[in-house]
Amino acid sequence: MSLGCDLTVLEELTSNAKQIQDDVLTKILKANANTEYLRRFLQGSSDKELFKKNVPVVSYEDLKPYIDRVANGEPSDVISGEPITAFFLSSGTSSGNQKIFPANNIFLENIQIFYTLGSLVMSKHFDGLKQGKVIRFTFIHPISTTPCGLPLAPAVTSFTKSEYYRSLAKNSPSPDQIILCPDTKQSMYCQLLCGLVQRDEVVTVGAVFASVLVQVIHFLENYWKEFASNIRCGHVSEWINDLSCRDSVSTILVEPNPELADLIENECGQKSWQGIVSRLWPKAKCIDAIVTGTMSQYIPALEFYSNNKLPLVSKAYASSEAYFGLNLEPLCKPQHVSYTFLPNMSYFEFIDVDDDGGTAGEIVDLVNVKLGHYYEPLVTNYSGLHRCRVGDVLQVTGFYNMAPQFRFVRRKNTVLSVYVEPTTEDDVLKALARATSVLESSNLMLAGFTCYADISTVPGHYVIYLEFRAKVNKTTSVLPLDNKVLVECCCVMEESLNGAYRLFRSDNEHIGALELRVVQQGTFDSLMEFFVSRGSSVSQYKTPMCLKSAEALKVLEDKVLARFFSDKSPPI
Ligand code: AMP
Repeated sequence: MSLGCDLTVLEELTSNAKQIQDDVLTKILKANANTEYLRRFLQGSSDKELFKKNVPVVSYEDLKPYIDRVANGEPSDVISGEPITAFFLSSGTSSGNQKIFPANNIFLENIQIFYTLGSLVMSKHFDGLKQGKVIRFTFIHPISTTPCGLPLAPAVTSFTKSEYYRSLAKNSPSPDQIILCPDTKQSMYCQLLCGLVQRDEVVTVGAVFASVLVQVIHFLENYWKEFASNIRCGHVSEWINDLSCRDSVSTILVEPNPELADLIENECGQKSWQGIVSRLWPKAKCIDAIVTGTMSQYIPALEFYSNNKLPLVSKAYASSEAYFGLNLEPLCKPQHVSYTFLPNMSYFEFIDVDDDGGTAGEIVDLVNVKLGHYYEPLVTNYSGLHRCRVGDVLQVTGFYNMAPQFRFVRRKNTVLSVYVEPTTEDDVLKALARATSVLESSNLMLAGFTCYADISTVPGHYVIYLEFRAKVNKTTSVLPLDNKVLVECCCVMEESLNGAYRLFRSDNEHIGALELRVVQQGTFDSLMEFFVSRGSSVSQYKTPMCLKSAEALKVLEDKVLARFFSDKSPPI
């Protein structure tokens, strides 16, 4: 597909979804029939019916040994007929180990097609996008290498560093060199500076995920005076010492602009930051960032910063396994967002999910999903995944031509998330067990526990509420809380959390230090009373593992005695 494509391509793709899916599977099976993995089940055949009959539905953990062998230097054809040229580091795992997914140029090319179609959809719904500048705050992660020397990085980083990104029409106010700067702080500073200097041309402001955009706005809160001063004198601050960043900024910030500096000082100096995005970028037509799934927690913040004037656009649904679908109605409200699957990305199947998140068994093709049903997607891609579970729960909301549209419901097992890390009930319970073992030698006995994803801080962080009783001297009303022991509890909890948590916590930019809040004795009883007053049954009452209701949180917050924070990042 050429990059100069128009929206008729989308009509063709969605109208011929069945045929295209069929062709994709044929192509994948032809290329992979002789891989060690598929030979186990198909004995070299590339027959589609045999594939469905014999190849098992697997989770990442089942495929991991094969993927690891390639990462460790065995030939790609252990899993893939096409050479594996990179590995994508995913944010998602509940098992504690970071997931790595094989990738190749077909994957990168698919991402490019996906972005191109996404931009076309945006241009259809918003006038003048092509003529304006599109701010999309993007940051790259350090690239490491697998033992066999192949690059290993998150998909967005791998794509952004590839030639496929370079040839995209981006209309960004920031030159690529700034986006490619490995120092996030310098890159963020320069991306903002370029965006401010060209404020009159900016038509959309965004980032892949809402959490990132909120983080950038908080950064702006800390640095607006410096931006104004740089713009006033026409020079970027000296601490920007990445030469490509400096050079790139100097092509944008070419001369002093005291009027713009005054304007920024005036807008940012106001007591409230309500509507700051539309005040600084008056021609912005929307905020472009994913606000579905765990990102929905950032909707109120983004509505505040745009003063409810700009639509929040959740453009796409994608993962390290495959890029899935686009939101064809970008102007719809976040609660109504559905993603239309693109049949050319990978071969997709869907496994029925029942109300509890268990899988009910039936597997259907993309075009055979049923309206209203809940499914977990399975991916068979061009880089070695076959019938691999994605771990998301989606609901069918309609069809665009023959292609189904899905609402993102939730990650299958996540209970806590402040960035994109999926922390499960299991993870939280394991962390709690570690903390309890630290407390063993103290006089403290755990009497209540729940947790909360606090995103009012930047970055967001986990708050664990604990209530203690004395093991001895039960009548003591004031429990001595040993700072050292409780900080140690925070640290061991963090150490035991999943790999994605530890990775995003390690740079202190995406996840902040875990916090323990010790509450007064009796608080968890009050919490139960609160829920019972709302209709819970006493005999069946279970303290929620994780709180979301502001009223329930208030019950705890009114009784907080002390706070403790982890004082070091956990090892990755
Ligand atoms: P990763 O493999 O690290 O890119 O993470 C992919 C996961 O992020 C998906 O499986 C989803 O759980 C989540 N995700 C991606 N896009 C969206 C979206 N538009 N809405 C909600 N969750 C999303």
